[in-house]
Amino acid sequence: MTTMTKPEEGALPTGSDAFLSVRDLYVHFSTEDGVVKAVDGLSFDLERGQTLGIVGESGSGKSVTNLAVLGLHNPKTTEIAGEIVLDGQELTGASNRTMERLRGNKMAMIFQDPLTALSPYYTVGRQIAEPYMKHMGASRKEARDRAVEMLEKVGIPQPRTRVDDYPHQFSGGMRQRAMIAMALVCDPDLLIADEPTTALDVTVQAQILDLLKDLQQENGSAIILITHDLGVVSNVADNLLVMYAGRAVERGTVRELIKEPQHPYAWGLLGSMPRLSSSVDEPLTPIPGSPPSLLNPPSGCAFHPRCPYPELVGGDRCATEPPELPAGRGSACHLTAEQKRSVFIEKIQPRLG
Ligand code: ADP
Ligand code: MG
Repeated sequence: MTTMTKPEEGALPTGSDAFLSVRDLYVHFSTEDGVVKAVDGLSFDLERGQTLGIVGESGSGKSVTNLAVLGLHNPKTTEIAGEIVLDGQELTGASNRTMERLRGNKMAMIFQDPLTALSPYYTVGRQIAEPYMKHMGASRKEARDRAVEMLEKVGIPQPRTRVDDYPHQFSGGMRQRAMIAMALVCDPDLLIADEPTTALDVTVQAQILDLLKDLQQENGSAIILITHDLGVVSNVADNLLVMYAGRAVERGTVRELIKEPQHPYAWGLLGSMPRLSSSVDEPLTPIPGSPPSLLNPPSGCAFHPRCPYPELVGGDRCATEPPELPAGRGSACHLTAEQKRSVFIEKIQPRLG
């Protein structure tokens, strides 16, 4: 691991016995331009029956993190360090065979675009049945019945006939449902949903999220819901992890984060969130500036070039010293707890309306 800076000893908790435990995760890509530090020292936990929302602007490392959990990175160009433990099993060093067995069976993923997961050449039913035969040893007949059952579960009308349709015969929302059926066919313990509703209209979005919630209640699975939209997660997640430039900058329950976010980046995300009260054409306030290059991330706190508050912290601390994220509720920012609170209440909250 020559390209990686070692995390400070004792800086992060280790030895968690959570259902999914990610510790000091580093995912670096070797490219022609240099090393892309896509994930750079990330730790989080997730329990069964709970939903963790991972939020952050595009390029903050959300998808790369979850592809690492699923073991889907190309080992030739990717350096992965740290620990990913799922139900007591260490995944970062696991063989391809082990990972293949776990994917689709113990853990499954749904993507933003169902067409990346569904093949145009096979019927929807066959694609749902296939992992069920492979992982559960079911017969063709059993797997077909299971596919019909799953289509019904995810709310596809006339599942007995629609099971023989091809993906292009389904609407966008129905394809998303079919992909969810495929992901859930083996009752995975961990479901990773990567921007599952971004391409859908608001009504269908809400239906899909409700569906995920229902299915979770039924089989107690753990869900990671990745999104750049705080509005989407705040309705369904229990806990939130806010990511910026390959690191977690804030964590807490949804309630804590919506009520009193602590990190200036989280303030920006909240400010750019569409509000029910605002009229449709009222422009949202984006966070000024753009996400940093992960080839050469800023020194100190990666957010400092876009942050209005380094002067409040004083000296050049924000530009030189990377802030630590405490375990549990907290944020990786050099402002004092008192400063975070008063800036939020005086300057940010009034603008959120
Ligand atoms: P997001 O938070 O939008 O899901 P990603 O996790 O996809 O962001 O990407 C994080 C960063 O890693 C981005 O800068 C992206 O360009 C880079 N990245 C992702 N995959 C690769 C790859 N295979 N090779 C090089 N860079 C990559
Ligand atoms: Mg992504």
